[in-house]
Amino acid sequence: MLNLRNPSPQRIVVLGGGTAGWFAAIALRRMFSPSVEIKVVESSKIGIVGVGEGGLLNFIGALHHNNIDINEFVRETGATWKWGFSYEGWRTGKEDDRFFHLFASQETPVSRWQERGAWPYLCAMVSQQAELDSYIEASRLIKNNATQAQAAALLDTKNAGIVPSFHFDSYKLAGYLKKVALSRGVQHLDAVVDEVVFDEKGFARELRTADERIALDFLIDATGLSRKVIGKKGMESEWVSFKDYLLMDCAIPFYMPHPQPNPMLVTRAVTMNAGWMWQIPLVDRVGAGYVFSSKYLREEEAVKEVEQRLGYAIEPHKTLRFDPGCFRKVWQNNVMALGLSSGFVEPLEATSIGQMLEQLHSFERVITSSQGVVSDSAIREFNEANFTSWACIRDFLRMHYDCGRNDTPLWQAVAKSPYPESYRALREVWQERMPRMVDVENYAIHGWRGIFHPINWTLIAAPLGVLPPEAGEMELRRLTPQKYAEAQRYAAEVKN
Ligand SMILES: Cc1cc2nc3c(=O)[nH]c(=O)nc-3n(C[C@H](O)[C@H](O)[C@H](O)COP(=O)(O)OP(=O)(O)OC[C@H]3O[C@@H](n4cnc5c(N)ncnc54)[C@H](O)[C@@H]3O)c2cc1C
Repeated sequence: MLNLRNPSPQRIVVLGGGTAGWFAAIALRRMFSPSVEIKVVESSKIGIVGVGEGGLLNFIGALHHNNIDINEFVRETGATWKWGFSYEGWRTGKEDDRFFHLFASQETPVSRWQERGAWPYLCAMVSQQAELDSYIEASRLIKNNATQAQAAALLDTKNAGIVPSFHFDSYKLAGYLKKVALSRGVQHLDAVVDEVVFDEKGFARELRTADERIALDFLIDATGLSRKVIGKKGMESEWVSFKDYLLMDCAIPFYMPHPQPNPMLVTRAVTMNAGWMWQIPLVDRVGAGYVFSSKYLREEEAVKEVEQRLGYAIEPHKTLRFDPGCFRKVWQNNVMALGLSSGFVEPLEATSIGQMLEQLHSFERVITSSQGVVSDSAIREFNEANFTSWACIRDFLRMHYDCGRNDTPLWQAVAKSPYPESYRALREVWQERMPRMVDVENYAIHGWRGIFHPINWTLIAAPLGVLPPEAGEMELRRLTPQKYAEAQRYAAEVKN
């Protein structure tokens, strides 16, 4: 059992001042009464990871939930609209090979018409091999490289068909969240923590720096890839690697100028010889990076390949190495790992901040519904749900690599890499029918919210050929002739 009610007052320490740490501090300050001390301990000498510049569909909701003013956030973080992703070169490697995964809203004609768990307009579009993004009004603006003002105007009409999110500068974001947290009474210490002291029951009791001992009752480990607490002595949580399924393990981030007059409204994911390149358009620059498998490419070769592709020299900030995966238990006794310290898969689909916000959301639900006195089984269920959510991300990303490319040693290895059993099972049924809620709802258990809707899965599965046109056609055959004709009419209209 974890008792955050007695003795009072309580001291909650967040170790780490990146996006995860400051978001947690703001949420905790809101959740607990002023008598509970919330302190962030971070080290400016160590700094933050400095990548992670795009949110998911839950990002704006999290800003609202934490009473953060959206206009101020945009001004202070150099944010631009993010409406989804552009996948380039994933099927043939050629420049004209592009499809979109947009943040489709549930308020479009496609989502509104459902028959026995499937969406007939979507089935017809899949069957006619239409470009699926075309049914979303926002896609026109993306393709026309619209300005931020034009994008905002379309969102104001409520007809964009999009749940918007943001691209942002990661350093400005952490700085802005810090400012908000401090203005709300969060305490702050800039120091390197050398040691975490546990008691005989395995509860963290103290952080030690060169000069101080910081007593605590609850600890959030938001120490990024250094995973200062969760993976170390006293905790020893099991690490579950996804490296057999997801081969990327290295990234070189750099900045580039905008390739088009206006910041694009999507994150670009462009395939390369041994991985792919992200391009995240902000107001003044594009945050970019080459993610690759170190087994198939050395850093110098990666830099050279990017320079050849872009036609100018780049200056990578650093090299980031990671083992794709997560901890099986992120919450043990009075310690919870959050953000990169709890796991990281790779940047495809930009899931990391989104998953961190889901983790925080569920943590808040457990703490508030337990009135601060949390049972061991609630903590166990939290860990199970968190791991299941990571498994969803793993499977969703594995599907992206189910793309048929076979033209370099890396893409040949990707083609031969195994499927996780849960993804294999989905893939099997999708040869016969369209993705449905029943396929993906078990990725969100014990009160967690699902990250990817069946329509998200479809927007990737169909263009890649994981979901064949026949699956759409088989669904349509179960409709009445009138409904069948209506679905086909809509798809033909979208296609043309
Ligand atoms: C290549 C790459 C690309 C990514 N792209 C995306 C993306 O597009 N979208 C997305 O959502 N996410 C992305 N991410 C993940 C994203 O960067 C993180 O989820 C996000 O920045 C949160 O990081 P964090 O706060 O967990 O860690 P960090 O930003 O690394 O913060 C860690 C904090 O811990 C502190 N610290 C560490 N050790 C100590 C110590 N001993 N004492 C005191 N303080 C300490 C550091 O000083 C720092 O303040 C990407 C990650 C990588 C590696």
